Amino acid sequence: MSTISQALAPLIRVEGAELHYRVGGALSALRGHAPVVKAVDGISFQIRRGESVGLLGESGCGKTSMGRLLLKLEEATGGSIVFDDEALSSLKGTALKSYRKRAQLIFQNPFDAVNPRFTIRRTLSEPLENAGVPASEREGRIISALELVRLPDPRPYLDRYPHQLSGGQLQRVVMARALILEPDFVVADEPVSMLDVSVRAGVLNVFRDVRDRLGLTAIYISHDLALVRYVCERTIVMYLGRIMEDGPTEDIVHEPLHPYTRALVAAVPVPHPDQSHAPLPIGKGAPDPRNPPSGCVFRDRCPRAFDRCARKVPRLRAVGTRKVACHLFDEDN
Ligand code: SF4
Repeated sequence: MSTISQALAPLIRVEGAELHYRVGGALSALRGHAPVVKAVDGISFQIRRGESVGLLGESGCGKTSMGRLLLKLEEATGGSIVFDDEALSSLKGTALKSYRKRAQLIFQNPFDAVNPRFTIRRTLSEPLENAGVPASEREGRIISALELVRLPDPRPYLDRYPHQLSGGQLQRVVMARALILEPDFVVADEPVSMLDVSVRAGVLNVFRDVRDRLGLTAIYISHDLALVRYVCERTIVMYLGRIMEDGPTEDIVHEPLHPYTRALVAAVPVPHPDQSHAPLPIGKGAPDPRNPPSGCVFRDRCPRAFDRCARKVPRLRAVGTRKVACHLFDEDN
């Protein structure tokens, strides 16, 4: 493939990905009626090189499960995920080790993401050691990674322990660890949700800056549309393991099409006392994932539901700049 067509080709292709698992214990399994939870249910999308995509939705919508499938931390139970022309399901041994270097995770809670008994130097040395980087090069790589995430004058931090750093400083260390092996792709799972509001903007700015400077392909997982808007050019909205809407973030924010996306947009607080922005009435929380509604999984909360919604699963179809899974956009509607 030529360099130009390689640059244009998607880095990641997801086709009908599924992550289904049985719950209910051994007895239910023996009786053959253990319920199945469809954490990810037949999802398809592609991500271009250098693109930043937000996976957005309430807790339990499957966004973290999708992130884990992309990193091969979970094995898909159906469909396929292809990274740079290689199916993740086929990666083993050396190929899997190489993928682990190219695809990294930035964790939600920095205090859970590091060993409290390791100094910052040891925390950042470990991935270099595992990747076979000579000991003589490690200190320089660690300093460069900490400078990249804008931890000013990093040397004094190297012999400190995680509890001696603030949440914002430690999240930068976690970012540095994810970036130290120069990956092509990162998944950031709610990376600022555990941080104090006053330091979130600083960490998000570092994330955006590093992503742009390194040309990283990034997935940003969040329940917060305002944060996704700040860091992602494109947004995929998920609900109960399926995609509801996929398109340019600004189009989604200014003119949401799917009734669920409309509710999420309406729920974003507007920082002005004269503007009222009441959430759309979408009723109770998401239904029990062991027993989702027939047809459209959003229908028992949807203010626009009609008879077809209970009978037929809406297909994700192109609508202008976007893709939407809703019968309101069926051609014969
Ligand atoms: Fe609402 Fe029906 Fe569209 Fe689902 S398919 S979002 S229930 S209108």
